[in-house]
Amino acid sequence: MFDWPATAWASAVSFLAHHAIAPLLAFAHLDRVGDDADEIAQYLLIGLVQVAIIAGVFRPMESLRPLERWTDRRATRIDRTYTFLKLFGLIPLFAYVALPLLGHLLGATDADAAAAPLQLDVWLPWLRPHPLLLFFVYLAITDFVYYAIHRLQHALPWWWALHSLHHSQRQISCWSNDRDSILDDLFEASIVAGVAHLIGVAPVEYALLVLLGELLQNLSHANVRLRFGRVLDKLLVDPAYHRLHHMRADRTRPGLENCNFALIFPLWDIVFGTALYREPPRPCGVDDAGIDADNTLGLPGQQWAALRRFAHALTRGPRAPARPDPRG
Ligand SMILES: [Zn+2]
Ligand SMILES: [Zn+2]
Repeated sequence: MFDWPATAWASAVSFLAHHAIAPLLAFAHLDRVGDDADEIAQYLLIGLVQVAIIAGVFRPMESLRPLERWTDRRATRIDRTYTFLKLFGLIPLFAYVALPLLGHLLGATDADAAAAPLQLDVWLPWLRPHPLLLFFVYLAITDFVYYAIHRLQHALPWWWALHSLHHSQRQISCWSNDRDSILDDLFEASIVAGVAHLIGVAPVEYALLVLLGELLQNLSHANVRLRFGRVLDKLLVDPAYHRLHHMRADRTRPGLENCNFALIFPLWDIVFGTALYREPPRPCGVDDAGIDADNTLGLPGQQWAALRRFAHALTRGPRAPARPDPRG
């Protein structure tokens, strides 16, 4: 009864793969054996769905109920470019190059998908007849890995050097989720994809995990007056919750900005004592003029600036002292 969406999706993937991706790969002499074209087509279609939802739902919500009123949205444009670059370039490329390589390194072949070393439904066989529950457990595990990574992105100087690019935006909007250092994306995606592979997440499930996680994060970055309510906001990250994570440091309450690291489930923040609720919204950005200067740069300039901070953090050891922001 519910087969038609899956059939329609498979037909769309197959059409795009055979009529666009495969000829392009052949033209560039990049065609390999296997179903790489299907994989790439799937990620491109997911990107299209995601952009359609951001532009058709989240962006109108920002106009209807904006949290911050901006006289112009020019500063948000670069984040839109990041979203297009990531969804239509970096993610399909990662699926084409890095995922097969990771699978190979972690010791399973395409023909032997059951060989995932920590395959969850082997360890917990009672989950096997409940695919939805199994998917939810995959989602919870990958989200916890993201939480741990995010804590380290703020705690380790070399990782903050890269992640700070995500935080340098002052106008956080529905496009801001993908504003990242590409090197940081590569670290993060390799770790999460590696864990997903180890616990036996199938490629289609992995793509769906990525889509769901990304969509909720696009919403949680939206400049919209929206809270999920006192119960639901403990279960899922909402825009008010993630916006507090992006607050500029408050010198009267030092450390307050070290909060709300969870990307999907606030449970991790609640358990590890980093959840912050019932705090009025605050201006976004960083209290460091050196990092805030990202806002004067284009995309290549921002990538280069993050790499320079990264190299500096690696060679100098402890985090370089922040240059006080002249905005006060
Ligand atoms: Zn962060
Ligand atoms: Zn964010």
